[in-house]
Amino acid sequence: MSDRIQSIRGMHDVLPPSSRMLRDLEHSLQDVLRQYGYLEVRLPILEQTELFRRSLGEVTDVVEKEMYTFEDRNGDSLTLRPEGTAGCVRAGLQQGILHGQPVRLWYGGPFFRHERPQKGRYRQFHQIGAETFGLAGPDIDAELMVMCQQMWQRIGLPTGPVLEINSLGTLQARQSYRATLTEYLKQHESRLGTQEQQRLHTNPMRILDSKNPDIQDVIRNAPSLSEHLDPESSEHFEGLKALLHTAGIQYHVNPQLVRGLDYYSKTVFEWVVPELGAQATICAGGRYDGLVDQLGGKPYPAAGFAIGLERLMSLLEASWADDTGIDAYMVLAGDQASHEGMRIAGRLRKQLPSLSLIVNCGGGSMKAQMKRADRSMAKLALILAEEELNCGTISVKFLREQRDQETVSQENLVSYLDKQLCTEGPKS
Ligand code: ATP
Ligand code: MG
Repeated sequence: MSDRIQSIRGMHDVLPPSSRMLRDLEHSLQDVLRQYGYLEVRLPILEQTELFRRSLGEVTDVVEKEMYTFEDRNGDSLTLRPEGTAGCVRAGLQQGILHGQPVRLWYGGPFFRHERPQKGRYRQFHQIGAETFGLAGPDIDAELMVMCQQMWQRIGLPTGPVLEINSLGTLQARQSYRATLTEYLKQHESRLGTQEQQRLHTNPMRILDSKNPDIQDVIRNAPSLSEHLDPESSEHFEGLKALLHTAGIQYHVNPQLVRGLDYYSKTVFEWVVPELGAQATICAGGRYDGLVDQLGGKPYPAAGFAIGLERLMSLLEASWADDTGIDAYMVLAGDQASHEGMRIAGRLRKQLPSLSLIVNCGGGSMKAQMKRADRSMAKLALILAEEELNCGTISVKFLREQRDQETVSQENLVSYLDKQLCTEGPKS
């Protein structure tokens, strides 16, 4: 029978142990954000469709074909958030925090895009993003990149991602470049695909972002934006490069890096892991000085980035396999042991807050309980049977090591477990 309801294509259940991996990953990234003084914002998952149309731009992949948009019961057009920046600016404006003191914020959670699902590209995926407001100089751009670098070190990415940077210039500078680019691309119009031909008239810069293999040489030889940069943006870009140099961060200037969304100006950047193929960008961001103004506020400088967590997870999969994080499984023989076990377990959890301990429920023979202990992936089995009850002890069996069983007095159990499990403060 195949009448079971399935999940929506490209939207995945995250089960253990991946769920733990995702949680650990989020905690590590959040801890780096905390170190830099970024504060969390929790924003709605649904926004008015108009917000994304106005901020991302009409002629972008996301708005043209990737948004989950629907009418609610009142007939309002709503959209599941495809990215976090627009909502963050909307909230900042609505809550009146975009003036005076600069702000550093972060957000995380699920995002939604109707794309063709494949490895590293899903319809529901997770991001952690940072956004800063009120800072116009290259120092904050550099801070965002330095912070990312620290995140990669913190989570132990096996291969260091490559930082690619570019400057898109101010909006005015971009307009004059756009005219030059259009003229060049028109000479190659016959080689462009249908979509690119349309974009020639609506948003020619997006053609530089195209992954169409037939026109990669056209893209490579296109006039470069860097030759058309306005002096202010050039100075900003040089300032950024000098700061990255001081911070010891290697980067590669990629003149083809234009980013898919309209709101960027001046600095844009991506962290790329080439082994991931067509889904190689694990983090993308840049400066969007015009967006606050575009969404109805006074002009206010802003810069940020977003990290795709599934792509990071795929890089870390090998090193994190199969650890549920469970420390111990308590095996109980008989009624009295069940009562005593619950009492001992309560005390252990209170005194060792980082301990993860399962107490057997549902009875079963010793053999069946030991099997459950093994399947739980716990490191230790704590056995409480008649003999242990009589002697005030507990037997400890090592499930993942070749080591003899030990008997520990119940009194010393806390310090014994503390030592065995090397519990250093609360676990993430
Ligand atoms: P791509 O060029 O790969 O489509 P993008 O430019 O559309 O990426 P952004 O809007 O910059 O992506 O989102 C930031 C990050 O979020 C990306 O670098 C990527 O790591 C992740 N991401 C974006 N879309 C998806 C998706 N559909 N599934 C999984 N992760 C995604
Ligand atoms: Mg995309």
